[in-house]
Amino acid sequence: MSYFQVNQNCNGCLACVQNCPARALDFVDQGDTRTLRHNMARCARCATCWRVCPQDAIEFQHLLENGWDEVVSLKLLRCEVCNEPVHSQQLPQSLDPKLVDMAGTLCDRHRVLRGAAHVRLPRRTKA
Ligand code: SF4
Ligand code: SF4
Repeated sequence: MSYFQVNQNCNGCLACVQNCPARALDFVDQGDTRTLRHNMARCARCATCWRVCPQDAIEFQHLLENGWDEVVSLKLLRCEVCNEPVHSQQLPQSLDPKLVDMAGTLCDRHRVLRGAAHVRLPRRTKA
């Protein structure tokens, strides 16, 4: 999903591109199509594009919202005893099978209570 969004009023006039002080807007004309492009890494969120757009086409509020955007949704595996979410279904598939807990899907508490021999699934950390 793009943070920079325009509505159906956009007519491709390029006023936003020409006035963006950060060169965060660009366009590509290919064949019979003009594509407006936005680069979030360059964008200063100054709203100049929003102010100069003659069509009120830029949905700028999304850039200013202090909200969370969903990136991906994965199916959960839950603890077989208490139903607490444990990890995604995909996680065990990407690990060496020898590392995966063969005693079933259990939360930390019930794994201990059951005394299941297991290897904890590693949590990914960034350097
Ligand atoms: S200034 Fe507005 S109408 Fe013109 S290209 Fe940009 S978003 Fe579209
Ligand atoms: S908010 Fe400012 S920096 Fe970002 S695209 Fe619009 S004019 Fe460019």
